[in-house]
Amino acid sequence: MKRSWLAALFLSLPALAQQQDFSKVEIKATHVAGSVWMLQGSGGNIGVSAGEDGIVMVDDQFAPLAPKIKAALAKISQKPVRFLVNTHWHLDHVGGNAAMAETAAILAHENVRKRMQAGGELPAFKLKIDPAEPRALPILTYQRDVTIWLNGEPVRALHTPPGHTDGDTVVFFTKSNVVHMGDDFFATGFPFVDLDSGGSVRGLIGALDEVLPQIPPDAKVIPGHGGLQTVADLKKYRNRLDEIVALVDRALKSGKTVEQLQKEKILAPYEDWNAGFVKADQFIATVARDLQQKK
Ligand SMILES: [Zn+2]
Repeated sequence: MKRSWLAALFLSLPALAQQQDFSKVEIKATHVAGSVWMLQGSGGNIGVSAGEDGIVMVDDQFAPLAPKIKAALAKISQKPVRFLVNTHWHLDHVGGNAAMAETAAILAHENVRKRMQAGGELPAFKLKIDPAEPRALPILTYQRDVTIWLNGEPVRALHTPPGHTDGDTVVFFTKSNVVHMGDDFFATGFPFVDLDSGGSVRGLIGALDEVLPQIPPDAKVIPGHGGLQTVADLKKYRNRLDEIVALVDRALKSGKTVEQLQKEKILAPYEDWNAGFVKADQFIATVARDLQQKK
């Protein structure tokens, strides 16, 4: 049991450790709505708003993919990337920063810059992250939100309460009616919640409760990972997380251990979420650890 989720973690390690063979990765561009596109390759989904004034981009995947991502952007617009928003500091979202900084001003919540500058560890992946080179760092930071006025479409980057990490941002493409959720939304299965980077499962639910009322019901939703989603999907995701936290909380309060909950497969009703790289047993442990943290 334990072995299987460890094995699963190791399978996802190469991608995060950049040891994956990126030569085989293809960047797929999908038109979402209005001036907004989604690029998918390996790592977090990229959001793109393209127009007369240039490109506003959200996240940039892994460093070795930068040439391919630039080639994909060139097919959408000949204009330069002028602004790049990082939704959080993980390598599969900020890896291309140095390459994009040739034309783009990089923006992020101030904790993203702090964590990138200091480097750190992702114990869940047995991974050590080196401090980022200076030109890869965000040069504009914010505590709450910032709006980029380009292409006649206000693009609003909003910091959300600690959820996936403590530096999360969601981005509203207000005119095209699209929102990029960063890793506050995993549409692939159980989410990875990075408690070691200040994240919290309960905090994530709170963040979603703050964001959801701000999203028009007919908006298109770009998740951090997985295909395009609807607002209804995002609500379902939020409610499932809430149910799971309540389930684990009740079981722990009844005196059971994490190992017992894993053995009893208490997340069996949510087994379709095992399709992602985080498995039920790992998520039980994450929720339990979060519940034991003082809030
Ligand atoms: Zn992430």
